[in-house]
Amino acid sequence: MTEQHAFRAEIQQLLDILIHSLYTNRDIFLRELISNASDALNRLQFEQLTTHEIADPSADLYIDVVPDEAAGTLTIRDTGIGMTRDELIENLGVIAHSGARAFIQAMRERKDINPADMIGQFGVGFYSAFMVADRIRVISKSYRPDEAAFAWESSGGDSYTLETSERETRGTDVILYLKDDAKEYLQPWKLKEIIRHHSNYVAFPIHVGDDEEPTNKQVAIWRQDSKEISDEQYDEFYKMLTLDFEAPSHRIHMRVDSPMQFYALLYIPGSAQQSVFNLRREPGLKLFARKILIEDYNKELLPEYLQFVQGVVDSEDLPLAVSRESVQATRIMVNLKKTLTSKVLSELKRLMKSKPEDYRKIFHDFGRFIKQGLVTSPPDADDIMPLLLFKSTATIGDDLTTLGEYATRMVRGQKEMYYVVADDDLAASRSPHLDPFRQRGIEVLYFSDPVDPVMLMGLTEYEGYKLRNVDEADIDLSDVGELKEDDTQAQEPLPEDAFTTVRQRFVDLLGERVLDVRSSQNLVGSPARLISSDSGVQRQMYRINRMLDREYELPVKILELNPRHPLVHNLSDMITSQPDNPLIDMVMEQVFETALLQDGIHPDPASMAERLTQIMQAATQH
Ligand code: ADP
Repeated sequence: MTEQHAFRAEIQQLLDILIHSLYTNRDIFLRELISNASDALNRLQFEQLTTHEIADPSADLYIDVVPDEAAGTLTIRDTGIGMTRDELIENLGVIAHSGARAFIQAMRERKDINPADMIGQFGVGFYSAFMVADRIRVISKSYRPDEAAFAWESSGGDSYTLETSERETRGTDVILYLKDDAKEYLQPWKLKEIIRHHSNYVAFPIHVGDDEEPTNKQVAIWRQDSKEISDEQYDEFYKMLTLDFEAPSHRIHMRVDSPMQFYALLYIPGSAQQSVFNLRREPGLKLFARKILIEDYNKELLPEYLQFVQGVVDSEDLPLAVSRESVQATRIMVNLKKTLTSKVLSELKRLMKSKPEDYRKIFHDFGRFIKQGLVTSPPDADDIMPLLLFKSTATIGDDLTTLGEYATRMVRGQKEMYYVVADDDLAASRSPHLDPFRQRGIEVLYFSDPVDPVMLMGLTEYEGYKLRNVDEADIDLSDVGELKEDDTQAQEPLPEDAFTTVRQRFVDLLGERVLDVRSSQNLVGSPARLISSDSGVQRQMYRINRMLDREYELPVKILELNPRHPLVHNLSDMITSQPDNPLIDMVMEQVFETALLQDGIHPDPASMAERLTQIMQAATQH
């Protein structure tokens, strides 16, 4: 008896796209089906290790690709895990990860990407066969003993059918009734070419037609000598593994013999974007034990801050007959993680020296992750710090500096390293806190990445130098560097009693909004700034909260006034001559809020507009 089932709505839409707009690279359907077959075999292998009851335990593990000229069909056959009736419905009748909708959406948004490159990422692989077939029949028998074989069939319309069927052994046949314009896929040479190109490293033998010899190499690429592997092969494997459509920006191929024996092939993706797009993948490395796949996404092999690294690890020492859960706990895993982590970090360091441009791109894409390592993996901090890159008052254009390079530029008497926290580089470069540093030729780093306030929790010292925020109240620069001649210093400071009067007006006006108002020794071109009396971790919290879109309280700081600045002089004169002039309070309020703005912490800059208009009006009156 044949039952009729309807496809879920998105599948219909997806099929339309696949059938009508993906003619450019139809070959990939074979890669997708072989990849499914290979997954099915991998999963069977794993079940063999952990489950006792398996149908046809002695059946060989292989993939056959069988063209039939007479029938006009191409069959992809595997002896893998197979599917029960329910699994056929579940896996082929609906798109589990809502991948189809995301795919359709992404196709609309990313016109620059070839849809064929994206298929793999969205869990729509099987359906790509409708590019070449107008009818597909899947006959499958589960590895579970006593399950009957079932046949699923669809012509890509809005429904599929299911019926009982015959199949001698466990596994799956995917039979494609090729379209008239797709008969080229009946030619063995064509099939072999595609297999060698896209599926060479599939671990199971792939036979085309009656060939005795498998078409694919079958060697696990990570176990091969790197001299035998071309860049193109490395990249192809990466794409197969990650479903990424861009080539990776770097790879690390390692073979370690002691104290443990393992192989690893790790990649740094070409951009951070793919992880956003990649709904189908979780972070984590593929873990094999002696070539047998144990886990698709193992997150215990690298620390969290290196989860952007993709790849494969194949251990010779991991016990095979372990559940995925117990793998985590073994000492071998701990050692693997240690070795892999230090290898990735040392590779990054090496790359920074040997190919600075490549490293910069990696840092641009993944620097935010790396920075978080300072906080989440303090023991790695010494290896992470040299990897950081920043702009500073001394860098030009797009150049960046390391902390080490900064250290070489420190001036006479400088014992600390300085940074300014801001929302972006431009704001950082305009910060009033930079005045005294500029004046003495002291370099200041710009911490303008949104994650920098978080990073600061783990970055307090580099090579024995304390890192100090330029807005800290007790920074003493009197013995650091050489004071440069500066015209703005020509103005005499306000006499002390005059300053006290100005100060008191500020204190009365601002009340609890400031901790104190005091005279500045450091300011040059700016009338005022806000400084922090504490240097603890807590003080970055408001930035972190703001980044997370949480409510935050404005930090209460000390207002420093520049007693040499003409504005402060003018205020002083006005307070003496016309103490009731409303402009005084207006200007003082604006001085305070400008300082907030310059630190990037003004909660509502637009609110200043009205006051500014009034001040301008007064300034243009005569
Ligand atoms: P994906 O492979 O990304 O999950 P597909 O649409 O290609 O998406 O396949 C859907 C599901 O169908 C697979 O996840 C798998 O569970 C099942 N499947 C496909 N082909 C086979 C096969 N040859 N053997 C066993 N299961 C399969």
